[in-house]
Amino acid sequence: MKLKKLGAKTYIIDSQNKVGIYLINEIDVVIIDTGLGESSGKEIMEICNSQNWQIKMVLNTHSHPDHIGGNHIIQKTLNVKIYAPKTEIVFIENPELTNNISYGGNPHKYLNSPYLVPKASVASKLTKEILPEGLEYFDLPGHNSQMVGFKTSDDIYFLADAVAGEDIITKYELQFTYDIQKQLKTLDYIKSLHGKLFVPSHGDDFTNNKHIVKLNYDNTINIINNIKKICSNKATFETILKHIFEIYNLKMDFIQYSLIGVTIKGYLTYMLNNDMLKVEFTENEQFWITL
Ligand SMILES: [Zn+2]
Repeated sequence: MKLKKLGAKTYIIDSQNKVGIYLINEIDVVIIDTGLGESSGKEIMEICNSQNWQIKMVLNTHSHPDHIGGNHIIQKTLNVKIYAPKTEIVFIENPELTNNISYGGNPHKYLNSPYLVPKASVASKLTKEILPEGLEYFDLPGHNSQMVGFKTSDDIYFLADAVAGEDIITKYELQFTYDIQKQLKTLDYIKSLHGKLFVPSHGDDFTNNKHIVKLNYDNTINIINNIKKICSNKATFETILKHIFEIYNLKMDFIQYSLIGVTIKGYLTYMLNNDMLKVEFTENEQFWITL
């Protein structure tokens, strides 16, 4: 059984993309994120049925495909409201936009899988007022533009993709990040939290938030140092990406090119804005150079 009880009112459906469940009372539940693909939405409804739980609302931490995949089928079947931060709503209602940003233009046919572009659902703005008693939200920008996390009355924090569990971070040092400046602030915020348990969407739950933040922070600094080394001989974006794939032992394909590409662009922006790099245009090529 994938259903796992974490606290009196807090459960997860344990998988690669964890789904949170919060009991408002003995019958009514809130779902936090809906996983990847329509099958995830069906599984969430089946599990809730087996427990005689009724889904009262869905909360999305952010709009990435592996967090909103079950939205459409749950909303169509149960007619429930979905709540998300304001900017994330735009992407939940127009899921192709995430793909457009990743590709940086009009995505080609190899980037049009239903997993990358889930079906659209209708979302409303997440506010304090709509949340049931015992549930709070907090901002976690960086991984995506306006991501949020949730805290339950069991003193359990759902951290979405702000940090991954230790098993994931040590295996995949390069985590998808959109805005490095905001992500560093979010890491500081997570370090300051006092909670009973922390639940990332990917990887193992943890209690020692300071340790997990340090691992994430160290990985970020390593990536910055690697980019500095690569750009000590001036380098184009493609050259930087090639070296990053080699250093982190990644295999390039259409999806990885897009996702790692967005992350490296995030690093280049952070480093340019903070005077670690400069840009030069030579013979119609853009070069990044370490300062
Ligand atoms: Zn994400």
